Amino acid sequence: LEAQLREAQKLEALGCLAGGLAHEINNMLQPIIGLTELVMEDVEPDCQAQRNLARVIEAAQRAKRITQQVLTFSHAEATEAGPLQLGSALHNVAEMVDVLVPRTVELVWRITPTPLLVRADETQMAQVLINLVRNAADAIGSSGGLIEITADAVQLDKTVEGAWPHPAGRYAALIVRDTGCGMDAATLARIFDPFFTTKAVGYGTGLGLPVVHGIVASWGGHIVADSRVGQGTTMRILIPTIVAEPAADAHSEPDSGPQAA
Ligand code: ADP
Repeated sequence: LEAQLREAQKLEALGCLAGGLAHEINNMLQPIIGLTELVMEDVEPDCQAQRNLARVIEAAQRAKRITQQVLTFSHAEATEAGPLQLGSALHNVAEMVDVLVPRTVELVWRITPTPLLVRADETQMAQVLINLVRNAADAIGSSGGLIEITADAVQLDKTVEGAWPHPAGRYAALIVRDTGCGMDAATLARIFDPFFTTKAVGYGTGLGLPVVHGIVASWGGHIVADSRVGQGTTMRILIPTIVAEPAADAHSEPDSGPQAA
């Protein structure tokens, strides 16, 4: 246990280092791209210099995509993605998610028609859902069961402290519930640790939930797991909603909630 703890701390330190580096490099790429664009305006169109400058920008933008990916996983900075309509994003990834679930498992989607605008990107949303549904399907196994995916609007009037702290405001709740084998407290306590897995060699990497955790954190969101042995597991994600959007029902007022970081 001691060794594993040390390993986790080492990984955490490495993640911090990578995140810090990515952040610095990202900051340096900004003026490289911006100033090159300015110089391009002063150069004769269609000459060799113009083409060379275009290649500088291209290379810098590629570097930027890489650093941004590292940042997403190292929690160092929120991504500048979005806004994304959660409901439509879920509809778009549904087909991909469906194929993860064996025939013995019933998959139910409950997506509110209320628009839920979050600052996130669809590829990451797909990644989160795929990882959670794959775990749920594994937990159910061949005996059959139910996976329920819910997306709904949540209004928190008060800041919540404790194990799952979040400031008051408006959120999108994304919940994946399964009727699988569940987890005991000792397992539950470690599910977000990198490389922690209870699955057989070749089946689990122990990276699914750490990746989910990192992505959700990059959205400014929160994730919490609730589980009972023999009954199943519920994974709850809260994502801050960002923009005033006239809701589908006529009763709702304009959004006065906080903006995402
Ligand atoms: P992996 O799936 O590769 O093992 P994860 O990080 O996704 O890695 O999950 C870590 C562990 O958490 C799993 O091995 C399993 O023990 C437990 N776990 C995750 N999701 C569930 C679930 N829905 N039901 C039961 N156990 C789960």
